[in-house]
Amino acid sequence: MSADCIFCKIINRELDADIVYEDETVVAFKDINPAAPVHILVVPRKHIPTLLDIEKEDEAMIGHLHSVANEVAKKLKIDDKGFRLVINCGADAGQIVFHLHLHLLGGRPLLQTIAKGRGV
Ligand code: 5GP
Ligand code: ZN
Repeated sequence: MSADCIFCKIINRELDADIVYEDETVVAFKDINPAAPVHILVVPRKHIPTLLDIEKEDEAMIGHLHSVANEVAKKLKIDDKGFRLVINCGADAGQIVFHLHLHLLGGRPLLQTIAKGRGV
């Protein structure tokens, strides 16, 4: 838990979010400013600022994060047509929330680019 982290506050129910999945290690909720019809953030409960900060002990959780993304994609019925997972790491990637998260994007054809953001 980091006191001034928006995602820690959502995880601890101090801030509202539209949660679509949660378990002991992971919470998934709708992005407040969606870049696609389906835009879910899949977030570990553990406060890890960026991908660069993951440790050996986090490897199982990182795998689980992807399994949860699959589950949510199926639940929201974007598994058939496809979806994209994105992790932004640091300034050049445009990371704005420094609590590790996967973006799960789908519900429309996505541009054939590795870029994230409004032009996904
Ligand atoms: P980043 O650029 O750090 O990878 O993406 C952070 C994402 O968090 C952005 O897509 C942004 O719209 C989303 N976001 C920022 N603040 C909030 C919030 O308070 N609630 C929710 N649900 N999403 C947020
Ligand atoms: Zn946090």
